[in-house]
Parts: sequence; structure tokens; C-alpha cells
Amino acid sequence: MKQEETTTLVLDVKDPQNRKEAIATAAAILQKGGLVAFPTETVYGLGANALNEKAVKSIFAAKGRPADNPLIVHISDREEVLPLVSSFSMTARLLAEKFWPGPLTMVLPVSDAVPKIVTAGLDTVGIRLPANDYARELISAAGVPVAAPSANVSGSPSPTSAEHVYHDLAGKIDLILDGGSCEVGVESTVLDLVGSVPVVLRPGGTPAEDLLRYLPDLVVPGLDVAEVEGIPRAPGMKYRHYAPQARLLLVAGAPEKVAATIRKEIASWQARGSKVAVLASRENAAGYKADVVVVLGGRERPQEAAQHLFAALRELDDSGADIILAESTDQSGLGYAVMNRLWKASGGDIIQAR
Ligand code: AMP
Ligand code: MG
Repeated sequence: MKQEETTTLVLDVKDPQNRKEAIATAAAILQKGGLVAFPTETVYGLGANALNEKAVKSIFAAKGRPADNPLIVHISDREEVLPLVSSFSMTARLLAEKFWPGPLTMVLPVSDAVPKIVTAGLDTVGIRLPANDYARELISAAGVPVAAPSANVSGSPSPTSAEHVYHDLAGKIDLILDGGSCEVGVESTVLDLVGSVPVVLRPGGTPAEDLLRYLPDLVVPGLDVAEVEGIPRAPGMKYRHYAPQARLLLVAGAPEKVAATIRKEIASWQARGSKVAVLASRENAAGYKADVVVVLGGRERPQEAAQHLFAALRELDDSGADIILAESTDQSGLGYAVMNRLWKASGGDIIQAR
């Protein structure tokens, strides 16, 4: 069935004069079963009333998202988790106290209140209380839990600005609330609390180091999450993610060796007639004589890298490069989430710098 094009309204929620009206308009759309893209501290979400099956179905259609990839349900207050789950353990309670509002999604046993389409038929549900004020105001005004995946076309880099959302979904959704750029820049950490030990299913905005302080038995899989044996994977992990049009090669190794290897790779790809782009640290950027150089952030500043990552991947795509050479980043804190996204964008194409 061909989808009808709708007119996508964009409202600036940053402007204090507009804020109340913009939130009220967005909340009314959610209540009527429509789709609203809204800012969160991680990335922009594409929201629908989580209790309205038909509305949730239209999220999958707008994004081209496979039906077996479950959605995260967003709430505006800790207490709102209770009707959505069949049990809420002491551990979950403690984590909610320490990490909510914030970029942590907890996977918990689902209650009958949540339609199957939200969880892709699983007996668990991912729930998050976002830290972004506009997001919480919207959910609270709508008066319902809001199911929301990232507001991009499935497979492309997640959106960290209203412009990214518009680029991907204009004509397919009712409204975009423009709340400026996202602070964290990578999606939430997805934490499974249903198994015998807690497991990070997807690294993200809440560093594993922070979770380990409260969960000493936390399992944090290696970078290539999809291939770790015996670990319950996030259902969405099998899909191609964050993939730029160009081939992305991730260059791993000690910092000095990485720069030298990238310089050699640039020369050899250019000699073969390729247009070459580099995703570089600020420290190394000036040393690359590539066709395009995009700076991700300072070498020792994973937070900055996380914030710029998805915009950088989109910029690299727009540059029309054939090959993208990406420096590996430090894996502490948010660096682990950044490397996970780069690894996925590379499809496992890694050059070991020696
Ligand atoms: P996105 O909303 O696009 O950031 O994707 C949501 C992520 O959360 C995907 O990787 C899902 O697989 C994961 N997720 C959501 N709900 C569950 C659940 N019940 N169990 C495991 N993973 C989940
Ligand atoms: Mg997504």
C-alpha cells in the first residue's frame, strides 16, 4: 500500500513565547494517534501514544522499521513505569533513582497494558525517563506513555537535530518539535534486568562504568555486541545501522600508528581515483591531505565525539566521498558507545594500524 504524504509541521519549542503552545499542539497530535518527532538528550525520538496500537504501527511504517525491532517506551515521571511492567525489582528501583531522568533504558517484564506491537511480541519492555525538559513536558501533557525509536529512516544515522529529522521524515509524520541539538548525541544505554545477571544490550549515553558502581555483576559485552555468544542480544542489533552510503573503514590501534596508517591509506585510495574522507580527532586533522576531513572531537574527549558523531556521519555522506577512513577513539566513558556505532557503520571493516 502506498503511503499518503502529509504536511510535516515544524514548531520551535526553544522560543519561550512558543513553548507552551508548541507542547500543547504536539500533545494533542499524540492524543489523536498522530506522530510527533521530539528532542531528547540522546537523539530525536519519533513518538506515538504507546497504548494506541494503530498509532504505534504508523511509527514502523514512517521509518521503514522491521516489525521485530521493539520500541522504547518513554515516561515523564518515575511512577509511570509501574502500570507498564509486571514487576519492578529493588535493583530497578535503585537504578531509576540514580539514573532517571537520563539516557538509561531498562528492559523489564512487560504488563498487559502494553500492546504487543510495541515490544515486537517479547515478554519484556524497554522503558526510559528522558532528561530533556521538552520531552518530559510533552509526555506529561499528552498524559500517555510515548513509544519512540530514533526519528530517522531505519538504517541511517540517528538524528541529533530537527533538520536531520526533516531530511529523513518530512511528509511522513505530523510534527517536529525543534528543541535544538541533542546534548548527549548517542542513543540510550539498553540494560537487560530480566535475566540472572544484568547485561548491557546496547552501549549508550549512560557509561558502563557508572552502572558498574551499582551492579558489580554487570555483563558488558565486547564492541561487536552482535557476535558475542550466549548473550541475549537487543533484538535490533542484527540490523545494519548508522551506515553511510560510502564504505567506512575503521582504523584501530595506538594513536600515533593510527594517524600514520590513515595518511598511507589516503594516498593509496586517491592513487586509485577514489574520493577520500577522514573522520578525525582534532589533534590529527591538520595532518591529513584527504579530499574531506571532518573533525569528531578532541582525542581525550569522548563526550564531544558522541555529541558530534551522527551529524559527522551525515556530513560525510553529503560530501560524496567513496571511502571514509575513521580514527578509532578512546573507549572509556561515552567512547565505548561511539566505537560501537563506528564499528557498526564499518560493517566490521577494520584496519589494524601497526
Ligand atoms: P531505537 O529506539 O531506534 O534507539 O532502538 C531501540 C533499541 O532498544 C533497539 O536496539 C531495541 O532492540 C532495544 N529494545 C527495545 N525494547 C527492548 C526489549 N524489550 N528487549 C530488548 N531490547 C529492546
Ligand atoms: Mg534507532
